[in-house]
Amino acid sequence: MTPTFPLLIDGRLRPGADGASEDVINPATEESLGHVAHAAPADLDEALEAARRGLEEWRAVPPWTRGAILKQAAANLCADIEQIARTLTLEQGKPLAEARAEVIRSAEFLEWGGEQARRVCGRSMMGRDPGQRAEVETLPIGVVAAFTPWNFPMALAAKKFAGALGAGCAIICKPSEETPGSVLALAQALLDAGVPKAAIGIVFGIPSEISRYLIASPIVSKITFTGSIPVGKLLAAQAGSLMKPVTMELGGHAPTIICGDVDPEQAADLLARAKFANGGQICLSPTRFFVERNIAERFTARFAEQALAWRVGNGLETGSQMGPLLNNRRLQAITSLVDDALARGAVVRAGGKRLGDRGYFYAPTVLDTVPADARILHEEPFGPIAPILPFDDEEDMLRQANGLEFGLSAYVFSHDVRRRERLKDRLQFGTVGINDVPTHPPEIPLGGWKESGYGTEGGIEILEPYQKTRFVSTRH
Ligand code: NAD
Repeated sequence: MTPTFPLLIDGRLRPGADGASEDVINPATEESLGHVAHAAPADLDEALEAARRGLEEWRAVPPWTRGAILKQAAANLCADIEQIARTLTLEQGKPLAEARAEVIRSAEFLEWGGEQARRVCGRSMMGRDPGQRAEVETLPIGVVAAFTPWNFPMALAAKKFAGALGAGCAIICKPSEETPGSVLALAQALLDAGVPKAAIGIVFGIPSEISRYLIASPIVSKITFTGSIPVGKLLAAQAGSLMKPVTMELGGHAPTIICGDVDPEQAADLLARAKFANGGQICLSPTRFFVERNIAERFTARFAEQALAWRVGNGLETGSQMGPLLNNRRLQAITSLVDDALARGAVVRAGGKRLGDRGYFYAPTVLDTVPADARILHEEPFGPIAPILPFDDEEDMLRQANGLEFGLSAYVFSHDVRRRERLKDRLQFGTVGINDVPTHPPEIPLGGWKESGYGTEGGIEILEPYQKTRFVSTRH
């Protein structure tokens, strides 16, 4: 019997060779949404063989046409937005409005990758000797293995599909087994638009087994991963031992500096929206709130007021501002971080507990007086918790802000132009929001510094991680 969420190999939706599967759970109700198929090695071999053929077929399609196909896929997603957004909400939990925004962002990535595909070109120049000609060809890097997470299951996969397919590569993607439906819908939109069926594979299974198998295959030339730092290091080491290039978009723990010259209520309102979006399960989420002492109490009081008023509920229900966490694992992780902070002396200003006993709902939480050794100040929380850290001394605050292995994003709130420039220049992060917490639009190359990643995704260079060059020297 074909499972609800099958594998997609060579254009066929089908179960795994040995019939294995796992339950997909709706995080709002804890009910099963069906089963997701697990790929056996025989399925992966088939997916790899298809990708090898798909690469030859797709790379031969003129970039102008590839661009048109990607743009058509974007239009397909938008045409089906209500159905796909519902799938996203059911499997991931986010409110429908956020799910719709994710579908649109995914379409924007495909469109952008399609635009950039039309600009693929090489270079040609006179060589150093008379009669010598030097050329640089820009070529697809080959078959890509992509591993994508559950927090933005469609948009984070769409980034990788846009770059890889725009460059002319074939791609095998292993999405998160917990959110399989939206990536299958993305793949279907691409196939319907005209991407050759062999050029796209979607496989699920035991993550460590699938990644080891695909990375080791001589058919795979490039690895791209979005997820946690420990898993990123593992995959990068496997790829490195075979000298295969990687792109790594990993975790963050964003310092958010609120200087004493801003309106604390206005800043708290903006930051509550940013903090509780997607239940705080965003790598760019603001996570450590350094607030200058003179406004710290007003900021904290308003943030707590917002947290208490935040409407948490099933994402399908009108009015829900925040859905559940993804799974029981996340619920336990968040509970443990908050319990640890409280045991060390932190004070709960709002939330601090699970909501209800069905669904993985956790209350929007504000913590005050958080001691420096609390785990939440060192480990990525990935949940709706805001630890507030009043500061007096800028140097000391900056030392703490830069003091972790994370280098993804940081935020500065100040109207003092010289001060915020100074702070921005000292912050060791790949994204800095000034009076802003941006999302990632396709026209921007996003990448982490330090252990938060390697390489970028998006921007006018969106195809580059999926390209290689060849130098051709000709004497006439
Ligand atoms: P996790 O590290 O267990 O899994 C994260 C993702 O990686 C999942 O999609 C999982 O299927 C995949 N994965 C795990 N092991 C893998 C392997 N060996 N090979 C290939 N894929 C593998 O963590 P989790 O509990 O699911 O998520 C929480 C953590 O994940 C967070 O703390 C955060 O750091 C990270 N995360 C980051 C992002 C991001 O956008 N950078 C997105 C989601 C999760």
